[in-house]
Parts: sequence; C-alpha cells; structure tokens
Amino acid sequence: MKTVTEDLRTRLFIGGEWRTAEGGGTFEVLDPSTGNPIARVEDAGPADALAAVEAAHRAQPAWAALAPRERAEILHGCYEVMTERAEELAALISLENGKALADARGEVAYAAEFFRWYSEEAVRVVGDLSVAPGGANRIMVQHQPVGVAVLVTPWNFPAAMATRKIAPALAAGCSVVLKPAAQTPLTAYAVADILHEVGVPAGVVNVLTTEDPGPVVSAMLHDPRVRALSFTGSTPVGRLLLREAADQVLKCSMELGGNAPFIVFDDADLDDALDGVMIAKMRNGGQACTAANRIYVQHGIREAFVRGLAERMGALVLGPGTDPGTQCGPLVDEAGVRKVERLVGEAVAAGASVVVGGERPQRDGYFYPPTVLDGVPPAAAMAREEVFGPVAGVIPFGTEDEVVAAANDTEHGLSAYVYTRDLARGLAVAERLESGMVAVNRGLVSDPAAPFGGVKQSGLGREGGGEGLREFTEQKYVAVAW
Ligand code: NAD
Repeated sequence: MKTVTEDLRTRLFIGGEWRTAEGGGTFEVLDPSTGNPIARVEDAGPADALAAVEAAHRAQPAWAALAPRERAEILHGCYEVMTERAEELAALISLENGKALADARGEVAYAAEFFRWYSEEAVRVVGDLSVAPGGANRIMVQHQPVGVAVLVTPWNFPAAMATRKIAPALAAGCSVVLKPAAQTPLTAYAVADILHEVGVPAGVVNVLTTEDPGPVVSAMLHDPRVRALSFTGSTPVGRLLLREAADQVLKCSMELGGNAPFIVFDDADLDDALDGVMIAKMRNGGQACTAANRIYVQHGIREAFVRGLAERMGALVLGPGTDPGTQCGPLVDEAGVRKVERLVGEAVAAGASVVVGGERPQRDGYFYPPTVLDGVPPAAAMAREEVFGPVAGVIPFGTEDEVVAAANDTEHGLSAYVYTRDLARGLAVAERLESGMVAVNRGLVSDPAAPFGGVKQSGLGREGGGEGLREFTEQKYVAVAW
C-alpha cells in the first residue's frame, strides 16, 4: 500500500488533464489534528470553472449516447477500484478531514456503494406509455439526461458526498463539474483519479477547488451550457445558490442543514438507545447533517440514560483521526471549535449542567472533547443551531404530544430518531415528525438504496435510491397518434 501523501493529486482536473489554475494561485490544505499544512493545491478562478464547463459540455453527448450497459460497467469498475483502494482513501480522508479511521473506512464503503447501486440503476431508466383518456392518442414519457450538472459538496463526507452525486449523474448520462470544499479537496481529486483510471471518458467528470467559491460557482451557474445544480452544504449557502440558480432556471437538488431530534421514550431498550445515540451523535465526531442535535429523553428513563451516555462519551479516546486507537478526532477547523465552545457556554449559562467534557483541551489542532450536557433549555442556541461537534445535549420531556411539538419546532427537517419498544407508537410518531427521514430504533438512516433528503429548509429533492437518478433527468412527453 502507498503512503497517504504519496502521489497526491493537487491540480485541477479538467477535460481529463491535471492542470494548474489560470490565475496562478494556490492554497494550503491543513491537518486538523495539528493545524499544519499537508499539501498545497491549485486555487481555481472563474476562467478555470468555465473551461471545466466547456469540457463537460463537449463530453456529454457521447457519454449520454453510450449504451446504458456500458455506462453501468464503467460505474461498476469505479466501485471495484474504490473498494480495492479503501485503506488508502480512508487514510487520506482521516488526514485532511480529521475523522477517526473507523469512520473514514465506513465512509469509503458508503461512497463506493453509490457506484455499485447506480451501476445497477443505469440500465433501469424506465419510461411510461399510456392511452390518453380520449382513447385516440398515446402518451409516451421518456427520462433524458438533464445535461451538464454543477456539483458542490461539503467537507464532512469528502468522498461520499461527491460519489452520491457523481454516480447518479453519470448513470443518467450527464457530465459534471464537481467543486469540493476547500478544507478537503484531496479526497475529491483521489476519487477523480480513480474514475479516470477506470475509463470514465475525459470531460465527463471535472473537479476543481477554490478558496473563494462564490465567483467560481456563480460563473458556472450563469453559463448557458449548465442545466442543473446539485448542492450539499449549509442552509444559508443553499438559499444563496438557489437564488443564483433562478437566473437560468436550473434544475436544483439541495441537501441542506439539519437539526435532528433523537427521542427516547420511557419504554425504550436502554442499551439499544445508548448504542443508537452514540452512532447518531458521534459519527464523524458529531459533524454530520444527520447528527442527533436535540436529545429528548422522557422523565422515567432520563437518569439512567444520562448516566449511560456520560460513561460512553467519557470513555472515548480523543486523538488524531489517523491514529488507529482514536475514536473521536478533531473538528475540521478553528471556526468549528469556536462554534461548539460558544454553544456549550450559552447552554450552561442558560441552566444546563455539564456531566462530562465541556472544556477545550490544551493541545495543538482543533480538538473538543466528547461532552454531555443535561437539562438543556429548549430555547438554548444549541437546540436551534447545528452543533456540528461531539456535544450531546439532553432535553427532558413528559408526553408524546409535547415531544412531537418540540421536535417539529424548527425550520429544519432532515432526519429524526425515535426509540421505543412499542412499534405502533414508533411508527405513529414517525408519521407526525416533520422530517424527510425517520429512524425507528436505529441510529443510522443512510443507505444508498434509500431516498435521502429533507423537508422544510433542509432541502429539495432526494439522493440515493431510484429518486437520486431522476434528479439528473428531465421527463420528455411525446404525444403520439398511430
Ligand atoms: P457550506 O455551506 O459552508 O459549504 C458547502 C459547499 O458550498 C462547499 O463546497 C463550499 O465551498 C461551498 N460554498 C460556500 N459558500 C459558497 C458561496 N458563497 N457560493 C458558492 N459556494 C459556496 O457547508 P460546510 O460547512 O462545508 O458543510 C456543513 C454543512 O453541510 C452543514 O450545514 C451540514 O448539515 C450540511 N450537510 C448536509 C448534508 C445533507 O445531505 N443534507 C450532508 C452533509 C452536510
């Protein structure tokens, strides 16, 4: 196996070539566990972005014209090579994102799975044929590729957020320009390298990164050759890009922020609920859009639950993601740590008590310890904003109606979790929650075969499943008389 930083790709990937940025700029990618640079990458500007759009535009017709089976086989090859390189990729993700190796390995498996799933879906893009109500005519509906798609992804799952878009886009016959987050471009380039090696034709996938995303993304969204935007990131940036996309009436899929409630009823299996909350809270050290953000615990089970949670959180080993013994890595950057410190400080000032953790350690890098707060007031900022860190805030509740109302009292609606031994109650509560995804007695919702996405201000559209491919197609209705 190669070492992590050997053969790192640091240039822009445009039209099948590794290029320097036209403006000549570069910037550093930092190791979050030390704050030291790992690599220097090219800093793309609008001219590079338009060159990538041109490459995608040229490549798209031939890619769309390939037999679905051929596209499927290339995608399956991507799954195989990503799986072969899993250790190498996981080490790179841990290095630039900071997450623990176990989380990074999980991410690579999840990321590769999108290529497998969409290699299977590529040959099943099925249309419709029906008789018009008048009886004389036929209604024929086909699903055609939307064209060139701009993909913008966050740093928290640098491989999976990219493949969750690239795989369905390619399966549908689209070409893409991917703009990954500036904190984690190396993983995106490593994925591009694999696609190139497997035989994805030049220009079908282009990747470029920049420290100043506004003008670069804007240039692409205003280029008439672009027809779709698929964005994953925060709700404020999502709103801004929706406004920009309106100028050309682009087809938009938006995977935005969350504020997930995790509801534990008195009758829940305590150990199962604790296992579940550790996954829902601590995957990626709490830096997930699906992370349990408000942990509602019914009065009867609260004491035992908080004790169990504190034991588990307190036992986690904090360290650099790349150390095999690490269970909780650093946050991605200094801004992330500051935000967590602010939210904890405000919650404590408002009456929450610190059960474990709660203080930034004296060491280099962007570390914050696994922390449990009990008695978080529902009005605390921590219950209204995404914590995006290893802090579990427990909010006590009495009745089912009370907790459903509290859980729904947010602009977000991405994921929610319910623990109860009474499955009828679990399903009834799942129906009442204003959320795109609900896990009942599970701490994880993500599955490439399922429609992932949010309601309210958590997004538009779905990724994964059959729906994920439809986001990259347009329906064409052909009115036929024969
Ligand atoms: P972010 O919104 O700051 O950035 C996301 C992407 O948008 C990055 O590539 C960034 O460079 C780019 N960007 C930022 N400002 C921009 C601008 N003005 N114009 C164009 N592009 C711009 O989010 P983040 O901090 O990278 O990621 C964390 C957020 O992502 C959280 O809110 C999290 O909930 C969300 N997220 C959502 C999902 C989901 O599936 N719903 C998955 C992962 C993360």
